[in-house]
Amino acid sequence: MNSNMKNAILILFVSLFSTIAVAQQSANVDKLLGLEDNQYFADRDSAYLDPIYGLKKLIYGNKRFAENKSIKPRQTDADLKNNELGQKPFATIIGCADSRVPNEIIFDQGVGDLFITRTAGQVMAEASYGTIEYATEVLNTRLIVVLGHESCGAVQAAMKLPENPPGHVVTLINAIKPASLYAKKTNKSEDDMLDTAIHRNVVEQVNLLRGLEPVLSRRFEKGEVIIVGAVYSLHTGNVEFIEETITSLPEFMNSKKATGSSKK
Ligand SMILES: [Zn+2]
Repeated sequence: MNSNMKNAILILFVSLFSTIAVAQQSANVDKLLGLEDNQYFADRDSAYLDPIYGLKKLIYGNKRFAENKSIKPRQTDADLKNNELGQKPFATIIGCADSRVPNEIIFDQGVGDLFITRTAGQVMAEASYGTIEYATEVLNTRLIVVLGHESCGAVQAAMKLPENPPGHVVTLINAIKPASLYAKKTNKSEDDMLDTAIHRNVVEQVNLLRGLEPVLSRRFEKGEVIIVGAVYSLHTGNVEFIEETITSLPEFMNSKKATGSSKK
C-alpha cells in the first residue's frame, strides 16, 4: 500500500468519527424538545404517557447506539418470555424493510418498546394504516415516527422512473414518485437528489398520516398523538429528526401563538 492510499484511509476514518461526534439534531429541535447535553436516558413509563418525552427517549437511545454506548435494555431471555401482561409500546415506527435498519438496535430499545411496521421505502397502504390505528386506539401508543434512511434502494428505484416495474413493485414506485419528481427538479448532483427524495418522501408520508381519516387526523389535531419524521444515516448511525415535522406539531405551533400574544 503506498503512502497516499494510507493517508486517504486515515482521512476517511477521521472524518467518519468526527461526523459521529457532531450533535444529532438541529439546535432548534434541541431547544423545542428540551434535549440535554450528556443525557443518555429517559424513563420508560413517562415515555409511554407523554409522546414528546417518548421522542427524547428515542433520541437518547440512538445517541447511545451511535456513540457505541448501547445498553441493550429489556432484551434478555426472561424479557422475551415474560410478556403475559400484554404490551405498552411507547412508539410506533413506520420504517423501511431494509435489512440494515434494525429499529430496536439503532434506537437501543427492548422488547415491548416499539410497535413497528416495515415495507420498502416505508410505503403505506390499507394494512399499514390499520396497524398504526391499532397501536393508537388499542395500545394507546402516542408517538408515531416515519423513519426513512440514507441509500434507500426503494427511493433509488423510484428515482429511475422505470416504465414497467415488475409485479407489485409498481405500488412502491408510484407511491414514491412525487418525492422523486420533486428531487429531480432541484437539478442537484445524483447523490444530493437521492438524499432530497429520501427526505421529501418522509415528509410526505408524515403529512399523509396527519391527515388520515378518521382516526389519526382527529387524534393528531387534538395533540393526543404526535407524528414526526426522521432519517437514519447508515454511515454514522445517527437518526436525525426532520425539523419541519417537529416545529409543525400542534403543541409547538400553539405555544408559538401563546408566547406571541402574551408579549403584547
Ligand atoms: Zn429503504
